Amino acid sequence: MAKIIDGKKISQEIKDELKEKTGQLKQEGVSVCLAVIQVGNNPASTVYVGNKKKACAYVGIESLAYELPEETTEEELLKLVRELNEKEEVDGILVQLPLPSHIDEDKVIQAISPLKDVDGFHPQSVGALSIGQKGFVSCTPAGIIQLLKRSGVEIDGKECVIVGRSNIVGKPMALLLLRENGTVTVCHSHTSDLKEVTRRADILVVAIGKAKMVDSSYIKEGAVVIDVGMDRDENGKLCGDVDFDSVKEKAGAVTPVPGGVGPMTIAMLMNNCVEAALQKKGL
Ligand code: NAP
Repeated sequence: MAKIIDGKKISQEIKDELKEKTGQLKQEGVSVCLAVIQVGNNPASTVYVGNKKKACAYVGIESLAYELPEETTEEELLKLVRELNEKEEVDGILVQLPLPSHIDEDKVIQAISPLKDVDGFHPQSVGALSIGQKGFVSCTPAGIIQLLKRSGVEIDGKECVIVGRSNIVGKPMALLLLRENGTVTVCHSHTSDLKEVTRRADILVVAIGKAKMVDSSYIKEGAVVIDVGMDRDENGKLCGDVDFDSVKEKAGAVTPVPGGVGPMTIAMLMNNCVEAALQKKGL
């Protein structure tokens, strides 16, 4: 029976560490502030934004909410981002995605100052990660590294396989595992024999977006399986890309959904905000 990697507990540890840090910073007169922009009222986005605000309040980060109507133009949004770039008291800027279809997301992401890019999506942040320079790292893959490290999973020298090559999960995940000296393979929808590759993995990260696709036949005995997926099963219940019940008998460790990777994403966003404030002060 696999060890269950408890993302809820680990994310709470991180948030508590950050709370202590922001408390100390406050005593030194340093505050941390995140600006959160939501355009329109996509219900999922409203939940995510609400959770981010709640986490800010817990950790001791001030959050400024900008709730813009669906009809907001690209130019209006870009203007707000530029204003926030200039605002001294704002340390991080987060634009909740997806944006309405009349707005070019890439343009908006590129307008955010890399110094305030706490989501780590700006091309400069991505470039910095790929050549091993300092910069903000996309929160979900950064959270997975923390999950592994804090659960005592060795990455150095291990066979790491990632299924999925998205810009926000798969690709930065590959770079981070490489930075930790893993031997990294990235699979995608054109991979010819997926199981043959995934069965080699000591650490398997699955970020596909297909409910319960990966069962025990995809994994090696004792593998560490990280499930990034946030899907709905046939009964509309939240589940991952991994068939947890099937995999848990064979894996060495596995993350549940919910309560695995999900909570780590917000914890790492909080971490990036605190980092942004520290960097601004040259600390
Ligand atoms: P995405 O942009 O849709 O990318 C999916 C990737 O999976 C693509 O690279 C695709 O390959 C690959 N893929 C699809 N079907 C495949 C198959 N049958 N075999 C092998 N590869 C396949 O998704 P994403 O944004 O990375 O998200 C993935 C999942 O993670 C979703 O369920 C999402 O909701 C979840 N997620 C969770 C969090 C969190 O905080 N927990 C954060 C982000 C995402 P191609 O490139 O060839 O199309």
